[in-house]
Order: sequence, then structure tokens, then C-alpha cells
Amino acid sequence: MSKKNRKYPTKDPVCVTCGLPSASGKMHVGHLRTYVPADVFVRFLRKMDVDVTFICGSDTHGTPVLTVAEAEGLTPKQTYTKYHNHYLETFPKLNIFFDNYGTTDDPENHARTIQIVKALKENGHIYPKDLETPYCDHCGRSQPDRFVRGTCPYCGADARGDECDQGCGRYIEPGLILNPRCAVCGNPTRPVTRTHYFMRLSAFESFVDKFLREIDVTKSARNYALGWVKEGLKDWCITRDLDWGVKYPDDESLVLYVWFDAPIGYISSTEQWAKKIGRPKEWEKYWKPGKGRLVHFIGLDIVHHHCIFWPSMLKGSGYNLPDAIAASGMVKIEGHNFSRSRGYIVWIEEEYLEKGLDPDYLRYYMVSSTSQTKDLDFAWASFAEKVNNELVATLGNFFYRGLHFTKKHYGEVPEGTLDRKLKKAIGDTIETVIDGVNENELKKVSDAILGLATVGNEYFQANQPWALVKEDKKKCGEVLYNALSLTKALAVLIDPILPSAAETVWKQLGLESDIHAVQLDEALNPLDFGAKLGKPVPVISKIDEELLTELQETTYARIKAAEAAQKGETKEDEEVTEHDPVKEAISFDEFQRVDLRIGKIVKCERVPKKDRLLKITVDIGVETRTMVTGLGHLYKPEELEGVTALFLVNLEPKKIGGIESHGMILAVEKLDEPGKWVPVKVDGVPPGSKAA
Ligand SMILES: [Zn+2]
Ligand SMILES: [Zn+2]
Repeated sequence: MSKKNRKYPTKDPVCVTCGLPSASGKMHVGHLRTYVPADVFVRFLRKMDVDVTFICGSDTHGTPVLTVAEAEGLTPKQTYTKYHNHYLETFPKLNIFFDNYGTTDDPENHARTIQIVKALKENGHIYPKDLETPYCDHCGRSQPDRFVRGTCPYCGADARGDECDQGCGRYIEPGLILNPRCAVCGNPTRPVTRTHYFMRLSAFESFVDKFLREIDVTKSARNYALGWVKEGLKDWCITRDLDWGVKYPDDESLVLYVWFDAPIGYISSTEQWAKKIGRPKEWEKYWKPGKGRLVHFIGLDIVHHHCIFWPSMLKGSGYNLPDAIAASGMVKIEGHNFSRSRGYIVWIEEEYLEKGLDPDYLRYYMVSSTSQTKDLDFAWASFAEKVNNELVATLGNFFYRGLHFTKKHYGEVPEGTLDRKLKKAIGDTIETVIDGVNENELKKVSDAILGLATVGNEYFQANQPWALVKEDKKKCGEVLYNALSLTKALAVLIDPILPSAAETVWKQLGLESDIHAVQLDEALNPLDFGAKLGKPVPVISKIDEELLTELQETTYARIKAAEAAQKGETKEDEEVTEHDPVKEAISFDEFQRVDLRIGKIVKCERVPKKDRLLKITVDIGVETRTMVTGLGHLYKPEELEGVTALFLVNLEPKKIGGIESHGMILAVEKLDEPGKWVPVKVDGVPPGSKAA
């Protein structure tokens, strides 16, 4: 990236926000996919002397809080207070520090939401309209959003009232869900008519189109959103028949839809911050049109709200528009889609912090595992591998060996001059770090910093101070001066990612300033000769086998317990949400192109060096063929030999594990045992029989 294309550093004030967590559950690893990178980004901006304010808060409204309140026997306010306090306490434990963390139920948010409704109405963007919405006679109330389930009108998947959570992911307007049934009691609902309020979103179509093309938005998020715009934006129902939320000003028996007042929480939380610092107007420098830059960090699951609704609301009520929307990929757990009910979740409090794990490790893992826009597969084994092989072996090792050796032989910073090559390496790393921050590619940043630590280790190894100290103490001092200068540079650069470790190393170097306040350029400033060194102790420690096993066992035990709980449930209350949605319809002609036949496995053997692969010889009646299947980790060859099952025989031949495979055995994944695939066996039918 050329320097003039960079957005940062900048003199303009920047407000960074994170999608508000719903105060209806505890923090888990999935949350950190957004909060950690945002915090790291903010810390790097501060190291570039940018005026930045970091804002977040708890989302307290809507049906998520209501359903949990009902389940826990609490009032909605008691529920959100409980979880809000949990977030408030847990973020700092992860070294995530917001300048303000409010709630959407705070008076500032009620007031700001009402002001925005009024502004939109004055500008002609809101109108009333009669609407048919689901009412449950059994429960005796209207059942909006998550209180209703049915069929997605766009893709046919089973969906929540307001969101196709199991299928296409689209927002669903009230009244549009097909075959609605009450999510509380399961009975079909009936439509009732009442007056709701709509925002004239259709009028913002060309604005949103232009906005998305001009601002800095993650490519996948832009493509999704532009796709929706292309299909045409429909007017948006912004009220709900509930008694929990921000009351609609013209009809107090309605509240605003949670996705109307939730993002306004960004503004009201900034207002709270301004009051807190004693300059109550200060929030305006970000939110009123002007030079302020708004940067939203979100997950890919809330693109619709941030790329379509939110900019239209801001535009229609005269506020500043977002400068950037950074949408991160989702988190998988141990190779499986995140699922609370199936146990694929890792709780931050009990399963990470209470195990005594350093928050910095998780921060590093979150930013360095993969590109920000891709899905991240969280697995304990890869977590331990990254901590042990990267943080400990490369960075921690370099910090400790130089400091320890110098302290032992010199006790202070010895005299020296910074080697030209090392100085260049530091300078180059600073440039890559700034590029990475500008591109929102924090993996690039962490890789570059670890690369500099490798340079340090190589320098140390090549100069052999342990031998040199006996021959020429002055020359050895020169080498150590360079090693410590590099240690200082690394501490400055890694500080936004590993704030605790960096601070400790800073003190070991005998430096008294606040490392979190020093600028990136400080990495190039020389150390003072004679500065007394602190006590060197390793700042990063290994995750040993025993701890790794303990961590894995906790997660696996929960997955097993969730499976057992689901098995124990009767068919009636089996959660429909656990089934994959039915895919898009295909025509009968398309189906006819698929050639399915019965085959018999006459021979089965392992593919050398490939645990998952088995080579099978299959009699399909007309001929005998070779296929390769990925069931090797689940079955021994002798278990499959002699099996008669269903095969797809006209699949394009493909090389798998070096062997050409002509077809595929059909297998099903057991719903109660994820990851376990069972061949579709057929008895009493000769090979070659066709399926249709
Ligand atoms: Zn759908
Ligand atoms: Zn009901």
C-alpha cells in the first residue's frame, strides 16, 4: 500500500463501535471475533496519535431478552441487568476497554431514539399502515419476531419470525413468514390486523446503492447488501406489538423494533461518554455531519441491519454516515458450526478465564489465526499450538533470553549502536503494521511482528553472546544492546495485541513510561545506556499437555451432555432448529440427471498415509469400479467390506489421495452424533439396481 492511499494515521476524529451484544446470555468465544480485533484496531490508532473513541453497550430490548426473562423467571430489566453486568466485568478481563459501555435502555437511548423517529417523520420517511401479524390464542398475545417460527418466504427454510436463522439469513418483515406457529407453545397463530408504522426504505434505494459503493466495507458484506438492493428495498415496519422496548411516540401501545433502537445505542453511548468527560457536546464531532469518521465492527450475521437500515436511518434524520463497516467472519467450534444447544460453544468466564489462562493468548489467537473476513475455526489443539510454537517459542523466547543474559552479565543496558540491518527491519515492520491496520488485516500485522522476533532470534543465535562474553565483554555488550533494542521495538509493536505481556517486558527493560501511551515511532528510539534492568521472568508460558486435555475435555463433555439431553427429549419437543434447512428446490429433470445405484463393496483397503481415506472396489452391476471415500477415520476396512449400499455413480471422476475415484458412496450424518457418518445400507437388493 502506498503511503498516500493510507487512511490512517489521520487528523480527523474517529469513533469505533462494536455490534452490541444482546444482554440475554453470557460471553463466549464467538463474541470475541468482533471485540478483540476492534480493540486491537483502536489501540493501533492510538499508537498513530489518532483521536479515537471506542464505544459499545448492551442491547437490552427485543424478543431475545424477553424469551430469556420468561425462561429464567425474571423481569426483562432484571435479566438485562444481570447480563449487562457480566459484560461490563468481563470485557476488561480480556484487556478490552471501551471509553463507554452503556445500555439501550438508558434514558439517553430512549431520548435519542424518539428524536430520530420524530426527525424521520418530519422528513416524510414514516407512515402508518395496517398489517396482519401473528396472534396466539393459546398464549393470549401477539407473537412478533422470535416468538414465532415458520417457513422463510425467500428460501423455504424453517425460520424465526424476523430472521431466516437456519437458511438464507435474510431479515423477514412482520406478517411475511409462512405457516406461522407460536414459538412458546407450538400452536398455529392467527393473523390479527392493527396499525403499525413503516419507514419508507424504498425511497433510500439509490442512496444505499451509492453509499455501499463509496464507503469502506468488507467485500462479502458489500456483495450481500448490494444483492438485496438489487432485488428492491421494501418499506420497513419499525414497530412491534410488545410492551418491552422504546415506546413509539404516536402510539404508546407499540414499541420500536429492537433493530431500530439498538444501533442508536452507538450514538447514545457516545453521548454518555461526552458527559462523562465533562464536554457534553463532544459526541457531535463524530455523529453530526463533518470530519468525524464512524467505523463499525460487526459480524457477518448483522450486515442487513448495518448496511441497509442503519445508513438510511442516519441519512433520513440528518446524521453523519459510517466511513467504514468491518464485517468479520463467524466462529466455528472444533470444526462444527457454533451451536448453543448442541454444545458447540466455549464460555469465556468458566472455560477460559477461570482456568487461569492469560487473556493475551486468546487475543493473539483471534487476530492471527486467519483473515478477519473468513470464518475462524476455534479448536483447543490449534490454540495451544499457536501459543506454544509462536508466542512462546518465537516471541517469549526472544524476550527472555536477551533480558536474562544481559541482567546476569551486565545488570543494566550496555553501550552499543543499533545495527543498520536491524534498524531497517524494525522500520519495515512498522510500515507493514500500518498497512495491515489500514487494510483491516490484523493477521498481516501479527505475522509481521512475529517475523521481526524471528530476525531477533537469528541475530542472537548468529552472534553467540554466551561465547562472546568470555572473549570480549565490550563487543558482547554491543550485541546485547541490539537484542534489547529489538526487544523494546517488539514490545511497542505487540502492545495492542498483547497489552499485559508488553507492559511486563517494558518494565523488565527498566522503562518507566506507560507503554500503552507510546507511539509506534518509539520502536526506533534507542535505549539509554546504563538503565537498570528489572527482574527478567518469562512473560508467556506454554500450554502443557495436561491443561490442553483439561480444556478439551470440558468442551467435549458439554457436547456429549447436549447430545444426551437431546436424545432424552421426546419427539414432540425436539428442537426443529437443529436440522439443516431443506435446500432450494430443483426440477424433476435436474434430479433425473443424478444416477443413483446399489453397489456392493467387494474390497476395501486403507490409502497409505491418509487416515481419512479408504479405497473401495465396488460392484455396481454393469461394472466394478474404484472409488475413494473419506470414512477412514470412522471405519476399519473390514467393517465396510461386503456392505451393500447406495452410490452416486455419475459423479465426475476425481483424484483423491492420488487415486482416481469414479463415484461416491452415500452416507448420512447422524443427527444425534455429529461427525458420525453412516453408509446408506440396503439389504436384499442386487448390485446395479437403480434408485429414483
Ligand atoms: Zn431464508
Ligand atoms: Zn402460544
